[in-house]
Amino acid sequence: MITISDELKNDIKSLTLPELQEAIKGIGEPAFRAKQLYEWMHVKQARNYDEMTNIPKALKEKLKANFEYTCLEAIQVQESKLDDTKKFLFALADGNVIESVFMKYKFGVSVCISSQVGCRMGCKFCASTLDGVERNLRPSEMLDQIYAISNYTGEKVHRVVVMGSGEPLDNYDNLLRFITLLTDENGMNLSQRNLTVSTCGIVPKIYELADEDLSINLALSLHASNDAKRKELMPIANTYSIKEVLDACKAYFEKTGRQLTFEYSLVAGVNDTDEDAKELSELLKGLNAVVNLIPVNPIKERSFKPTDRSGALAFKNKLEKSHINSTIRREMGRDIDGACGQLRRRHLEEN
Ligand code: SAH
Repeated sequence: MITISDELKNDIKSLTLPELQEAIKGIGEPAFRAKQLYEWMHVKQARNYDEMTNIPKALKEKLKANFEYTCLEAIQVQESKLDDTKKFLFALADGNVIESVFMKYKFGVSVCISSQVGCRMGCKFCASTLDGVERNLRPSEMLDQIYAISNYTGEKVHRVVVMGSGEPLDNYDNLLRFITLLTDENGMNLSQRNLTVSTCGIVPKIYELADEDLSINLALSLHASNDAKRKELMPIANTYSIKEVLDACKAYFEKTGRQLTFEYSLVAGVNDTDEDAKELSELLKGLNAVVNLIPVNPIKERSFKPTDRSGALAFKNKLEKSHINSTIRREMGRDIDGACGQLRRRHLEEN
């Protein structure tokens, strides 16, 4: 059951259809208007009230007076020359900026969205976390990233991954509300199976998510095969051990039946040795999981170097020999600051 906070009550795009129906009644309008408005927001993805052609002018004025209508403005779009990846820098109403990524695969279009402005998790190789977290994104602002990208590219979005800046489970209530809205049959109606949430491993929240009766995919950012190494890369490892994290993932799998994905950024000389591959295989044995290997995207503030192509292949082969499924993630958009938080950071430095 999701409840509405005071902060979101006037944020019309963050309201579920039943909540919107209540709100519309509350301003003395007939309930059928709620359905019309909901469709304008989440199906036709109107950018403002004025685009809503079958809504009377007087009602539009009333809505403007009572509800905020969020909409993102693209302040920069970087288009990769290597592939079809596009990286968007969006301005929020309060002047903060966030980034989102459009990726085109054979199966269709995938959009990667941010869940917070910045991040407080402090992973050592990640640009999003260098200045800490500024604030949580609202459900509307998470949806807006998808709607704006769809609008800009004219493409239908098939998959959504919450893998941009921020830790989604650190913004739990808004994340759940976002999932409810995105997968609502009266709205964009994305299949829950086509939605992936990536977390650095906030254990109690993984258990909570497992109990929500959803069928979304969980990706766990592991990045190391023992606690000592994980602590060097990810401060969250000081709070939860790998064992605790994996137990939570298993519980998630048992509750939802969704296959688990483990993200593993390969950092040369840090977590990419034969010994690491062996230890990782032991750790994930019997979990029926997929390991996504991604050579770390170097950021200039840190000295981490990516594992080279042949090293990544050797690591993958080692895992496969132990019957651990893995893929080497295509490094899309490398030429356009593809890694988490890099574009926003460059923008902040230049302005
Ligand atoms: N906070 C969540 C989601 C955002 S990060 C999480 O930790 O999963 C999304 C993924 O990108 C994570 O696996 C993260 O570890 C990885 N990542 C961040 N910066 C990276 C970089 N410079 N190179 C490679 N992967 C990176």
